[in-house]
Amino acid sequence: MAQVIDGKKLAKEIQESVTKEVSELVKKGKQPGLAVVLVGDNQASRTYVRNKQKRTEEAGMKSVLIELPEEVSEAELLQQVEDLNQDDSIHGILVQLPLPKHISEDKVIDAISQEKDVDGFHPLNVGNLFIGKETLVPCTPAGIIELIKSTGESIEGKRAVVIGRSNIVGKPVAQLLLQENATVTIAHSRTKDLPAVASEADILVVATGRAKFVKKNFVKPGAIVIDVGMDRDENNKLCGDVDYEDVFEQAGFITPVPGGVGPMTITMLLKNTLTAAKKIICQTRLDGSDDFARKVLNS
Ligand code: NAP
Repeated sequence: MAQVIDGKKLAKEIQESVTKEVSELVKKGKQPGLAVVLVGDNQASRTYVRNKQKRTEEAGMKSVLIELPEEVSEAELLQQVEDLNQDDSIHGILVQLPLPKHISEDKVIDAISQEKDVDGFHPLNVGNLFIGKETLVPCTPAGIIELIKSTGESIEGKRAVVIGRSNIVGKPVAQLLLQENATVTIAHSRTKDLPAVASEADILVVATGRAKFVKKNFVKPGAIVIDVGMDRDENNKLCGDVDYEDVFEQAGFITPVPGGVGPMTITMLLKNTLTAAKKIICQTRLDGSDDFARKVLNS
């Protein structure tokens, strides 16, 4: 029978440690700031953004919401991003996706300053991740690694299979597992005999967007199963990509949906904003005489 990995509890613990560090910075007059740009009136995006703002404020950070109408031009949005790049009180910038069709998401992501790219989507940060340099890592994959580590099981030397190869989940999480010295396979919709491939995994990460897709025959007995999916079942109830009931007896550890990967994503966004703020503050203040900057850099 699987042990349940409690994402809510872990997210709360990490947020507490972020909040503590933020309060140290605030005492020194350096409050980390996150700006979220929301274009148009997509209700799901609005809900995500509201949650991000609430959690940013709870962590003691400055939270700025910039709302732009659906018909805003690409040039105006790019100018808005540039203004935030130049704003010293802002250390993290997130443009909520998806954007309206007349705006190139790639251009907007490219325009965000690499050091304020707390979503970790900028090509330079993606490149750094792939060559193993320290960088801002996409939030959901970073949260997945924390969830796996919270089991107390070592990642090194394990067989890991990631089902899904998206740029925001599958590919970065596979790269992070590789950095942790797992032996990693990325599976996708063209993979032959997926249950056989998946059932070799000591660590199975599932990010397909297909409700209850992974059944017991995909899971090696005792495996760590991380379910990234946020889907709706036949009764319109929130569920994951893993058939939780079917897999529960077979897995060693499993994340529930809701309450697994989901709560970690915003927490890792806050952590990224803190990391970005510490780096930016140090670059602007490390002039050879600043003890505070030294302390931050060394923490
Ligand atoms: P995506 O961009 O749609 O990618 C899905 C991936 O799954 C693709 O690589 C696809 O393969 C693969 N796939 C689809 N059907 C498959 C099948 N039958 N067999 C094997 N592979 C299959 O999705 P995503 O953005 O990575 O998101 C995945 C899920 O995670 C979604 O449910 C999403 O809502 C959820 N999510 C949750 C969070 C969170 O914070 N909890 C964050 C992000 C995403 P191909 O490349 O071959 O098409």
